[in-house]
Amino acid sequence: MTVSTKGIVEVTDWSTMKVLVTGGSQGIGVGIARGFAEAGAAVVISGRSADKLDAAVRRLSVHGARVYSIVADVSDRQSCHRMAADAVGILGGMDVLCANAGIYPECDLDALDDDGLRSIFATNVAGTIFSVQACRDALRASGRGRVVVTSSITGPVTGYAGLGHYGASKAAQLGFVRSAALELAPDGVTINAVLPGSIATEGLDGLGEEAIAGMVAAIPQRRLGAPADVAAAAMFFASEQAGFVTGQSLIVDGGQTLPEIPETR
Ligand code: NAP
Repeated sequence: MTVSTKGIVEVTDWSTMKVLVTGGSQGIGVGIARGFAEAGAAVVISGRSADKLDAAVRRLSVHGARVYSIVADVSDRQSCHRMAADAVGILGGMDVLCANAGIYPECDLDALDDDGLRSIFATNVAGTIFSVQACRDALRASGRGRVVVTSSITGPVTGYAGLGHYGASKAAQLGFVRSAALELAPDGVTINAVLPGSIATEGLDGLGEEAIAGMVAAIPQRRLGAPADVAAAAMFFASEQAGFVTGQSLIVDGGQTLPEIPETR
Protein backbone atom coordinates (compact mmCIF):
# COMPACT_ATOMS: atom_id res chain seq x y z
CA MET A 1 0.00 0.00 0.00
CA THR A 2 1.18 3.52 -0.73
CA VAL A 3 0.04 6.72 0.91
CA SER A 4 0.39 10.01 -0.93
CA THR A 5 2.02 13.09 0.62
CA LYS A 6 -1.48 14.45 1.28
CA GLY A 7 -2.24 11.37 3.40
CA ILE A 8 -4.71 10.05 0.88
CA VAL A 9 -4.43 6.36 0.06
CA GLU A 10 -3.50 5.83 -3.57
CA VAL A 11 -6.08 4.28 -5.86
CA THR A 12 -6.04 0.51 -6.27
CA ASP A 13 -4.09 -0.88 -9.22
CA TRP A 14 -6.59 -3.53 -10.29
CA SER A 15 -4.44 -4.56 -13.27
CA THR A 16 -2.03 -6.39 -10.96
CA MET A 17 -4.75 -8.16 -9.02
CA LYS A 18 -5.44 -11.90 -9.22
CA VAL A 19 -8.94 -12.91 -8.18
CA LEU A 20 -10.82 -16.18 -7.61
CA VAL A 21 -14.63 -16.03 -7.52
CA THR A 22 -16.40 -19.22 -6.40
CA GLY A 23 -19.89 -19.65 -7.80
CA GLY A 24 -18.75 -17.33 -10.58
CA SER A 25 -20.68 -18.92 -13.43
CA GLN A 26 -23.94 -17.04 -12.93
CA GLY A 27 -25.82 -14.51 -10.84
CA ILE A 28 -23.98 -12.47 -8.25
CA GLY A 29 -20.73 -14.37 -8.85
CA VAL A 30 -20.60 -13.53 -12.52
CA GLY A 31 -21.37 -9.90 -11.60
CA ILE A 32 -18.45 -9.86 -9.14
CA ALA A 33 -16.17 -11.44 -11.75
CA ARG A 34 -17.28 -8.85 -14.31
CA GLY A 35 -16.56 -5.98 -11.92
CA PHE A 36 -13.00 -7.14 -11.25
CA ALA A 37 -12.32 -8.14 -14.88
CA GLU A 38 -13.58 -4.84 -16.30
CA ALA A 39 -11.36 -3.00 -13.83
CA GLY A 40 -8.40 -4.92 -15.29
CA ALA A 41 -7.86 -7.78 -12.81
CA ALA A 42 -7.17 -11.36 -13.90
CA VAL A 43 -10.08 -13.51 -12.72
CA VAL A 44 -10.76 -17.23 -12.29
CA ILE A 45 -14.38 -18.26 -11.83
CA SER A 46 -15.38 -21.64 -10.43
CA GLY A 47 -18.53 -23.73 -10.21
CA ARG A 48 -19.69 -27.32 -10.68
CA SER A 49 -21.04 -27.08 -14.23
CA ALA A 50 -18.42 -26.81 -16.99
CA ASP A 51 -21.10 -25.69 -19.45
CA LYS A 52 -22.21 -22.79 -17.27
CA LEU A 53 -18.60 -21.77 -16.71
CA ASP A 54 -17.81 -21.85 -20.44
CA ALA A 55 -20.83 -19.67 -21.18
CA ALA A 56 -19.82 -17.20 -18.47
CA VAL A 57 -16.21 -17.00 -19.70
CA ARG A 58 -17.51 -16.28 -23.22
CA ARG A 59 -19.77 -13.49 -21.87
CA LEU A 60 -17.04 -11.97 -19.71
CA SER A 61 -14.15 -12.19 -22.17
CA VAL A 62 -14.77 -8.89 -23.93
CA HIS A 63 -12.49 -5.89 -24.42
CA GLY A 64 -9.41 -7.91 -23.45
CA ALA A 65 -10.78 -9.07 -20.10
CA ARG A 66 -8.70 -11.89 -18.58
CA VAL A 67 -11.19 -14.50 -17.34
CA TYR A 68 -10.55 -18.22 -16.82
CA SER A 69 -12.57 -21.06 -15.28
CA ILE A 70 -12.10 -24.08 -13.05
CA VAL A 71 -14.66 -26.80 -12.34
CA ALA A 72 -14.88 -27.28 -8.57
CA ASP A 73 -17.39 -28.22 -5.89
CA VAL A 74 -16.87 -26.09 -2.78
CA SER A 75 -18.68 -28.61 -0.57
CA ASP A 76 -15.73 -30.97 -1.13
CA ARG A 77 -12.48 -30.15 0.69
CA GLN A 78 -10.21 -31.83 -1.87
CA SER A 79 -11.99 -30.11 -4.72
CA CYS A 80 -11.32 -26.77 -2.99
CA HIS A 81 -7.62 -27.57 -2.68
CA ARG A 82 -7.45 -28.46 -6.38
CA MET A 83 -9.37 -25.24 -7.19
CA ALA A 84 -6.91 -23.12 -5.22
CA ALA A 85 -3.84 -24.82 -6.73
CA ASP A 86 -5.22 -24.53 -10.27
CA ALA A 87 -6.18 -20.89 -9.75
CA VAL A 88 -2.67 -20.07 -8.52
CA GLY A 89 -1.28 -21.96 -11.52
CA ILE A 90 -3.40 -20.00 -13.97
CA LEU A 91 -3.08 -16.57 -12.34
CA GLY A 92 0.46 -16.85 -10.98
CA GLY A 93 -0.78 -16.22 -7.42
CA MET A 94 -3.91 -15.01 -5.67
CA ASP A 95 -4.74 -11.67 -4.05
CA VAL A 96 -8.51 -11.95 -3.64
CA LEU A 97 -10.87 -14.84 -2.87
CA CYS A 98 -14.56 -14.09 -3.28
CA ALA A 99 -16.26 -16.98 -1.47
CA ASN A 100 -19.59 -16.53 -3.15
CA ALA A 101 -20.90 -20.02 -4.08
CA GLY A 102 -24.17 -20.71 -2.33
CA ILE A 103 -27.57 -22.35 -2.62
CA TYR A 104 -30.97 -21.31 -1.29
CA PRO A 105 -33.61 -24.00 -1.90
CA GLU A 106 -36.82 -23.10 -0.04
CA CYS A 107 -38.03 -25.72 2.42
CA ASP A 108 -40.50 -25.41 5.28
CA LEU A 109 -39.39 -26.51 8.71
CA ASP A 110 -41.65 -29.57 8.71
CA ALA A 111 -40.26 -30.78 5.38
CA LEU A 112 -36.59 -30.16 6.14
CA ASP A 113 -34.83 -33.54 6.28
CA ASP A 114 -31.26 -34.53 7.08
CA ASP A 115 -30.09 -34.30 3.47
CA GLY A 116 -31.61 -30.85 2.97
CA LEU A 117 -29.99 -29.51 6.11
CA ARG A 118 -26.65 -31.17 5.42
CA SER A 119 -26.45 -29.98 1.84
CA ILE A 120 -27.08 -26.31 2.63
CA PHE A 121 -24.45 -26.29 5.37
CA ALA A 122 -22.03 -28.29 3.19
CA THR A 123 -22.20 -25.67 0.43
CA ASN A 124 -22.76 -22.39 2.26
CA VAL A 125 -20.77 -22.92 5.46
CA ALA A 126 -18.27 -25.74 4.89
CA GLY A 127 -17.82 -24.51 1.29
CA THR A 128 -16.81 -21.05 2.53
CA ILE A 129 -14.45 -22.44 5.16
CA PHE A 130 -12.88 -25.02 2.79
CA SER A 131 -12.31 -22.27 0.21
CA VAL A 132 -10.58 -19.99 2.72
CA GLN A 133 -8.46 -22.84 4.08
CA ALA A 134 -7.42 -23.91 0.59
CA CYS A 135 -6.52 -20.37 -0.52
CA ARG A 136 -4.83 -19.29 2.70
CA ASP A 137 -1.21 -19.91 1.66
CA ALA A 138 -1.67 -18.09 -1.63
CA LEU A 139 -3.38 -15.13 0.07
CA ARG A 140 -0.61 -14.95 2.66
CA ALA A 141 2.00 -14.98 -0.10
CA SER A 142 0.19 -12.09 -1.79
CA GLY A 143 1.10 -9.77 1.08
CA ARG A 144 -2.25 -7.98 0.65
CA GLY A 145 -4.68 -10.88 0.59
CA ARG A 146 -8.41 -10.30 0.75
CA VAL A 147 -11.39 -12.60 1.33
CA VAL A 148 -14.89 -11.39 0.58
CA VAL A 149 -17.72 -13.70 1.62
CA THR A 150 -21.18 -13.39 0.08
CA SER A 151 -23.56 -13.80 3.01
CA SER A 152 -27.12 -12.41 2.99
CA ILE A 153 -29.51 -10.22 4.95
CA THR A 154 -31.54 -13.43 5.40
CA GLY A 155 -30.42 -14.90 8.70
CA PRO A 156 -27.97 -12.27 9.94
CA VAL A 157 -30.62 -9.49 9.84
CA THR A 158 -34.01 -10.76 8.67
CA GLY A 159 -36.15 -13.88 8.68
CA TYR A 160 -37.83 -15.57 5.70
CA ALA A 161 -40.35 -18.38 6.10
CA GLY A 162 -39.07 -21.46 4.29
CA LEU A 163 -35.45 -20.32 4.50
CA GLY A 164 -34.64 -21.07 8.14
CA HIS A 165 -31.87 -23.51 7.19
CA TYR A 166 -30.45 -20.99 4.70
CA GLY A 167 -30.64 -18.11 7.19
CA ALA A 168 -28.79 -20.22 9.74
CA SER A 169 -26.06 -20.95 7.19
CA LYS A 170 -25.70 -17.26 6.23
CA ALA A 171 -25.48 -16.20 9.88
CA ALA A 172 -22.89 -18.95 10.42
CA GLN A 173 -20.77 -17.41 7.68
CA LEU A 174 -20.56 -14.17 9.68
CA GLY A 175 -19.49 -16.04 12.80
CA PHE A 176 -16.72 -17.57 10.73
CA VAL A 177 -15.71 -14.22 9.22
CA ARG A 178 -15.22 -12.57 12.61
CA SER A 179 -13.03 -15.33 14.04
CA ALA A 180 -11.12 -15.97 10.81
CA ALA A 181 -10.33 -12.24 10.65
CA LEU A 182 -8.28 -12.65 13.84
CA GLU A 183 -6.35 -15.65 12.49
CA LEU A 184 -5.71 -14.09 9.08
CA ALA A 185 -4.73 -10.61 10.32
CA PRO A 186 -1.08 -11.47 11.10
CA ASP A 187 -0.74 -12.65 7.48
CA GLY A 188 -1.90 -9.26 6.19
CA VAL A 189 -5.12 -10.91 4.96
CA THR A 190 -8.51 -9.30 5.56
CA ILE A 191 -11.87 -11.07 5.47
CA ASN A 192 -15.21 -9.30 5.25
CA ALA A 193 -18.75 -10.10 4.18
CA VAL A 194 -21.25 -8.53 1.82
CA LEU A 195 -24.91 -9.02 2.82
CA PRO A 196 -27.04 -8.66 -0.29
CA GLY A 197 -30.77 -8.09 -0.11
CA SER A 198 -32.87 -9.21 -3.07
CA ILE A 199 -30.63 -9.31 -6.14
CA ALA A 200 -31.92 -10.10 -9.65
CA THR A 201 -30.14 -13.36 -10.56
CA GLU A 202 -30.95 -16.63 -12.32
CA GLY A 203 -31.33 -18.19 -8.88
CA LEU A 204 -34.51 -16.15 -8.32
CA ASP A 205 -36.09 -17.25 -11.63
CA GLY A 206 -37.97 -20.14 -10.04
CA LEU A 207 -39.70 -17.90 -7.49
CA GLY A 208 -42.31 -16.58 -9.94
CA GLU A 209 -43.59 -13.10 -10.79
CA GLU A 210 -45.76 -12.68 -7.70
CA ALA A 211 -42.89 -13.41 -5.32
CA ILE A 212 -40.58 -11.05 -7.24
CA ALA A 213 -43.20 -8.27 -7.15
CA GLY A 214 -43.50 -8.80 -3.40
CA MET A 215 -39.74 -8.45 -3.04
CA VAL A 216 -39.67 -5.21 -5.03
CA ALA A 217 -42.51 -3.78 -2.93
CA ALA A 218 -40.47 -4.43 0.22
CA ILE A 219 -37.48 -2.44 -1.03
CA PRO A 220 -37.58 1.36 -0.43
CA GLN A 221 -35.67 1.95 -3.69
CA ARG A 222 -38.43 -0.06 -5.48
CA ARG A 223 -36.04 -2.20 -7.50
CA LEU A 224 -34.19 -5.44 -7.07
CA GLY A 225 -30.46 -5.08 -6.66
CA ALA A 226 -28.13 -5.93 -9.54
CA PRO A 227 -25.11 -8.21 -9.31
CA ALA A 228 -23.05 -5.07 -10.04
CA ASP A 229 -24.29 -3.54 -6.76
CA VAL A 230 -22.80 -6.48 -4.87
CA ALA A 231 -19.65 -6.38 -7.01
CA ALA A 232 -19.05 -2.75 -6.00
CA ALA A 233 -19.17 -3.68 -2.31
CA ALA A 234 -16.87 -6.68 -2.86
CA MET A 235 -14.41 -4.46 -4.73
CA PHE A 236 -14.42 -1.96 -1.88
CA PHE A 237 -13.35 -4.70 0.53
CA ALA A 238 -10.72 -5.86 -2.00
CA SER A 239 -9.35 -2.36 -2.57
CA GLU A 240 -6.19 -0.82 -1.12
CA GLN A 241 -8.41 1.67 0.69
CA ALA A 242 -10.06 -1.09 2.75
CA GLY A 243 -6.77 -2.58 3.96
CA PHE A 244 -7.55 -1.71 7.61
CA VAL A 245 -11.11 -3.10 7.47
CA THR A 246 -11.54 -6.71 8.58
CA GLY A 247 -14.18 -8.93 10.18
CA GLN A 248 -16.92 -6.54 9.03
CA SER A 249 -20.08 -6.81 6.98
CA LEU A 250 -21.78 -4.44 4.55
CA ILE A 251 -25.49 -4.62 3.72
CA VAL A 252 -26.38 -4.00 0.07
CA ASP A 253 -30.18 -4.00 0.00
CA GLY A 254 -31.64 -0.71 -1.29
CA GLY A 255 -32.84 0.05 2.24
CA GLN A 256 -34.89 -3.14 2.64
CA THR A 257 -33.83 -3.75 6.24
CA LEU A 258 -34.39 -0.15 7.41
CA PRO A 259 -38.13 0.51 7.93
CA GLU A 260 -39.33 0.19 11.52
CA ILE A 261 -42.90 -0.29 10.25
CA PRO A 262 -44.03 -1.56 6.82
CA GLU A 263 -44.02 1.31 4.34
CA THR A 264 -47.45 2.51 3.23
CA ARG A 265 -46.34 5.07 0.65
P1 NAP B 1 -27.17 -18.50 -8.32
O1 NAP B 1 -27.59 -17.60 -9.41
O2 NAP B 1 -27.95 -19.72 -8.05
O3 NAP B 1 -25.62 -18.93 -8.60
C1 NAP B 1 -24.96 -19.75 -7.68
C2 NAP B 1 -23.55 -20.00 -8.16
O4 NAP B 1 -22.90 -20.86 -7.22
C3 NAP B 1 -23.47 -20.70 -9.50
O5 NAP B 1 -22.31 -20.29 -10.17
C4 NAP B 1 -23.37 -22.17 -9.10
O6 NAP B 1 -22.78 -22.91 -10.16
C5 NAP B 1 -22.46 -22.05 -7.88
N1 NAP B 1 -22.56 -23.17 -6.94
C6 NAP B 1 -23.65 -23.64 -6.29
N2 NAP B 1 -23.30 -24.69 -5.52
C7 NAP B 1 -21.96 -24.88 -5.68
C8 NAP B 1 -21.02 -25.79 -5.16
N3 NAP B 1 -21.37 -26.77 -4.32
N4 NAP B 1 -19.73 -25.68 -5.57
C9 NAP B 1 -19.35 -24.72 -6.41
N5 NAP B 1 -20.19 -23.81 -6.94
C10 NAP B 1 -21.48 -23.90 -6.59
O7 NAP B 1 -27.05 -17.73 -6.94
P2 NAP B 1 -26.92 -16.17 -6.64
O8 NAP B 1 -28.27 -15.64 -6.47
O9 NAP B 1 -25.99 -15.53 -7.58
O10 NAP B 1 -26.27 -16.25 -5.18
C11 NAP B 1 -24.84 -16.20 -5.02
C12 NAP B 1 -24.56 -15.98 -3.55
O11 NAP B 1 -25.24 -14.81 -3.11
C13 NAP B 1 -25.04 -17.11 -2.65
O12 NAP B 1 -24.10 -17.31 -1.62
C14 NAP B 1 -26.34 -16.59 -2.07
O13 NAP B 1 -26.62 -17.14 -0.81
C15 NAP B 1 -26.02 -15.11 -1.99
N6 NAP B 1 -27.21 -14.24 -1.98
C16 NAP B 1 -28.01 -14.13 -3.07
C17 NAP B 1 -29.09 -13.24 -3.04
C18 NAP B 1 -30.01 -13.02 -4.22
O14 NAP B 1 -30.98 -12.27 -4.08
N7 NAP B 1 -29.74 -13.60 -5.38
C19 NAP B 1 -29.36 -12.51 -1.87
C20 NAP B 1 -28.52 -12.66 -0.77
C21 NAP B 1 -27.43 -13.52 -0.85
P3 NAP B 1 -23.04 -24.53 -10.29
O15 NAP B 1 -24.50 -24.76 -10.02
O16 NAP B 1 -22.62 -24.87 -11.67
O17 NAP B 1 -22.16 -25.15 -9.26
